[in-house]
Amino acid sequence: MEEPIRDRVARVLERIDRAAARSGRSPAAVRLVAVTKTQPPERVAEAYEAGLRVFGENYVQEAEGKAGRVPDAEWHLIGKLQGNKVRKAVSLFGWIQSVDSPGLLAAISRRCVEAGKTMPVLVEVNLAGEGSKAGVSPEELPDLLSAAAGLDGVVVAGLMAIPPMTEDPEESRPGFSRLREILARHSGPGTGREGMTELSMGMSNDFEVAIEEGATMVRVGTAIFGSRARRQG
Ligand SMILES: *Cc1c(COP(=O)(O)O)cnc(C)c1O
Repeated sequence: MEEPIRDRVARVLERIDRAAARSGRSPAAVRLVAVTKTQPPERVAEAYEAGLRVFGENYVQEAEGKAGRVPDAEWHLIGKLQGNKVRKAVSLFGWIQSVDSPGLLAAISRRCVEAGKTMPVLVEVNLAGEGSKAGVSPEELPDLLSAAAGLDGVVVAGLMAIPPMTEDPEESRPGFSRLREILARHSGPGTGREGMTELSMGMSNDFEVAIEEGATMVRVGTAIFGSRARRQG
């Protein structure tokens, strides 16, 4: 029989506690973002009943059907955002973690101003420099951050990265520590960005290493929900 979501959640929370303790951090400083992609609304509701209140979704359309099942939850967009879905994303999500261009940031800003809200966003950084991966290169980051400073309705709260998948979680460590260094470089005293403190990094197979390296958000899917069905359509 498949392990209940409640038990999986308990185990993930325990592992977060232990990883935080190992690195002298408070577990309260780490947000667990439960990644719901391909999971049906009923399973999301189960995770909610197990106490989770923060969810991450890759697809705007999919979040729509799930958000209604979990009142007072916080939804984070963690996947590629198309220009024609920005308005809907702004109405559904409390955070957008996947900002990867000045144009997208400007579009989010415009829709947020229209909606009368302020959206915390993360800039997705492409650490590996793989052409196929989303995110801005560390070299492009300063321009994006400068552009953000002039925009209403959005606040760049930190950085997000998806390092290449590896079997051994230790192989993710250099990427995580590099993202922490990049954040420190751009948010230090005198930069005007002292409030940029969030580091979204770490998934099911490497979230403990990410926490040891300073993650403030870990995005965990399969460790909570079990393996994913193939995405339809
Ligand atoms: C799917 C996904 C996750 C979660 O991955 P798991 O390995 O299932 O924990 C995290 N972040 C992003 C951006 C994803 O697409």
